Amino acid sequence: MVDVRGNAVIVVGAGLAGLSAARTVAAAGVPVTVLEAADHPGGRVRTDVVDGFRVDHGFQSLTTSWPQVARQLDVSALGLRVFQPGVLVFEDGRTHRIGDVRRVRDALGGLRTANGGGADRARVAALLARVASAPIARVLSAPEVATVDTPSMSALSPELAHRTLRPLLATLLHDPQLRSSSRFAELMLRSFLRGRVGLPARGMADIPRQLAAGLPTGVVRYGVRVSSISADRVLTDAVGEIRASAVIVATDPATAVALLPGLRMPEFHAVTTLYHVARLAPRPDASLLVEADGRSPFTHTTVVSQVAPTYSPDRRALVATTVLGHDGSEPAKLELRVRERLAVVYDTPTASWDHLTTCHIPCAVPVVAPGHNFRRPVRLIGGLYVCGDHRDSSSIQGALASGHRAARSTLTDLGLPQ
Ligand SMILES: Cc1cc2nc3c(=O)[nH]c(=O)nc-3n(C[C@H](O)[C@H](O)[C@H](O)COP(=O)(O)OP(=O)(O)OC[C@H]3O[C@@H](n4cnc5c(N)ncnc54)[C@H](O)[C@@H]3O)c2cc1C
Repeated sequence: MVDVRGNAVIVVGAGLAGLSAARTVAAAGVPVTVLEAADHPGGRVRTDVVDGFRVDHGFQSLTTSWPQVARQLDVSALGLRVFQPGVLVFEDGRTHRIGDVRRVRDALGGLRTANGGGADRARVAALLARVASAPIARVLSAPEVATVDTPSMSALSPELAHRTLRPLLATLLHDPQLRSSSRFAELMLRSFLRGRVGLPARGMADIPRQLAAGLPTGVVRYGVRVSSISADRVLTDAVGEIRASAVIVATDPATAVALLPGLRMPEFHAVTTLYHVARLAPRPDASLLVEADGRSPFTHTTVVSQVAPTYSPDRRALVATTVLGHDGSEPAKLELRVRERLAVVYDTPTASWDHLTTCHIPCAVPVVAPGHNFRRPVRLIGGLYVCGDHRDSSSIQGALASGHRAARSTLTDLGLPQ
């Protein structure tokens, strides 16, 4: 039975956006209730335990340089285990590291180039340094095109772009075609270059757990699905109608569109992550490895347990490998293709690896196409608000920021201090 204080602000959904909104409302001293359909917080940020291994529902990572991450999370309490800076690019049987702007010249030393290397290395280094130091306002006011058509891409030779930026951006954007907004690409690359990237020791689900734990006891009600809403009430399957002083819809985009006709349904990138268990780690380092070979079935792979040993119950290695844009059909065939390619990339036999599980998420992240508004309105009418990554950008930062914005707008309408 849901016991909701009369006329609380109701937040629908306890993903990152909903939890962010609820915390802002609660911090203003206003009663708030979060109604969540699932039995846990986090939405798309979820960790399951499978045969003792921590398995994030689709490989993802936390980047510390996002402003809302710094503002809303206690990263040290998450016990963040970090990747080595930059990524390893696998190309023609060897790897080279890019993206470590702290020692970019050394890091690019392994980059093979057609013309002897110096000029190409300098171009990539200059490009990454420029992106890392660009003010956000400049990124958001730069001309916006598809990422693949950006001037910075064409500043590199097509061959060099293909071997360096392309695989890294495809991984960051979940977009192998690089049709995403160039502004979004620069924002993602900028934060990746400036921050630490890592995994919470207890899995990505520790992020929403931490946010939920910061709310007063009993504020989040699990197992309550909202079926319709208006500005002063919601209808739930479990407990019928609940009156509210305001309603903030913080569901996934598809549910938001169903609850709030008139919202535009975004397109999505599909993400499929395959988890394998190996007796020994196929690489010793805590690196994210991206594929430069466009014919590879996957874009990126990592030995998760070398980054966060806490993801494994024993000394066995957990390998996460991500395929973008797959339709989910013929999973056994996909697993075989991935396993065969992993043997090449890690230069080790993979036939004895156990396939632990595959997470296929058809609507993983909304497409951020050119023309994207990074601050879509969150106020629909007085009393009714919407937030989620689809209102800002498809990222942890976007979800947290949109929730905070929706809550501030709610408090303003209620005439309350923020
Ligand atoms: C595989 C994958 C990899 C990713 N990688 C990264 C990454 O590396 N870095 C990064 O920054 N971002 C990444 N993201 C994106 C990031 O995880 C999302 O943008 C963010 O979690 C979205 O949060 P949200 O609160 O907007 O929505 P959601 O997480 O979708 O939360 C919505 C919540 O609403 C609840 N709900 C839905 N309908 C109802 C209803 N009718 N009644 C009550 N509750 C309801 C749901 O159960 C859910 O808890 C990734 C996402 C995926 C899926």
